[in-house]
Amino acid sequence: MSSELTCKELIDFLDDYVAGAQTAQARAAFEAHLSICPECVDYLAQYRAAPRLARAALDGGAHAAPEDLIQAILKTRR
Ligand SMILES: [Zn+2]
Repeated sequence: MSSELTCKELIDFLDDYVAGAQTAQARAAFEAHLSICPECVDYLAQYRAAPRLARAALDGGAHAAPEDLIQAILKTRR
């Protein structure tokens, strides 16, 4: 089993990572990838911000339309 993640694998793990549900080994591999891949760091930041932005939109804030949010995420994902 390789300890190196691809960007796609990292994205697959994102839910577990944010939820703190990873094994220590998976987490180490995840963070090793983040240390060498600025694009995934950006993606993670977007991912973490998304629920907050979506909630703000639902609360009547006009800053974040869901379509804009999706486009922003897709852009970082490429
Ligand atoms: Zn990456």
